[in-house]
Amino acid sequence: MKAFVIGNAAIDETVSVEDFPRPGASIFGRALSQDLGGKGVNQAVAIARTGLACHLVAAVGQDPRGREIAARLAAEPVMAQLIALPGVATDNSIILMAGHGENAVITTRAAAGAMTPDHASVALDKAASGDLLVLQGNLGAATTAAALQAARARGMRTVLNPSPLQAYVADLWPLIDCAFLNEDEAAILGGDARLLSHGVAEVVLTIGARGAALVRPDARIEVPATPCTVVDTTGAGDCFMAVALASAALRGVALDARALRHAAVAAAWTVGQAGTVSAFPDADRMRAILAKG
Ligand code: ATP
Repeated sequence: MKAFVIGNAAIDETVSVEDFPRPGASIFGRALSQDLGGKGVNQAVAIARTGLACHLVAAVGQDPRGREIAARLAAEPVMAQLIALPGVATDNSIILMAGHGENAVITTRAAAGAMTPDHASVALDKAASGDLLVLQGNLGAATTAAALQAARARGMRTVLNPSPLQAYVADLWPLIDCAFLNEDEAAILGGDARLLSHGVAEVVLTIGARGAALVRPDARIEVPATPCTVVDTTGAGDCFMAVALASAALRGVALDARALRHAAVAAAWTVGQAGTVSAFPDADRMRAILAKG
């Protein structure tokens, strides 16, 4: 089984602040890290580091930031195909890490938003029945729908992490087998029951330091978070999702409690380090995590 991630690629600039600024305020911050990021890249790199074969398709601009993303991805085990679009600025994210442990993220999406339905369906040319399609909320509505339809036509399993949340996801649930939601997304979308009623077969809810739950129409499995010292929570949800999916895929089983435990350990490692992709467990550490019970 292989995974195909179609999503965004960005450079993440993380700044620590005492608290989020009020409208109109100017505040001081401390530069924490500059790292490879973007939810598509995050999830693809984390999957690839587990040893599961993973293709990433993402768009960048023809600019220094796009070249930096390409160089950094070349050092990862992911099979990355970057579409370099003329006249488009490569995406970046400004991440504010507040002293109370929460973060706020502003992501530009000129490059991700310029990916077309054709890019999405061509991205799945090498996909086969049973492979995973992993999507997030950065692509446009038509491109996201085209990717899901192409995946369904090939008999792939479709997974959506609807972040950033866009209104169009409401129309996509019938095309989605599995959804990963954090607490805010679950509240806005009406919770797991609503998604299950629209045909999503399983929903994974993550609730930060309080852990995660896997919900199916007939079962609910809860797994606690792994205690850790919080340094930077950026990418915790992406790492969690990637490792849960890969743990199950590598064992040839459906998502289970063990997959969620592996994901919780990997996400806690990420929370304990500054940065995004560079905060994820490396391939050796991933192997050790996946060997646990
Ligand atoms: P982010 O946007 O920060 O990447 P998210 O909002 O998508 O994250 P969360 O629910 O905050 O997702 O976190 C995902 C998982 O990461 C949690 O289920 C948990 O396993 C782990 N995690 C997050 N915060 C902590 C923490 N403070 N301590 C330990 N584990 C954590």
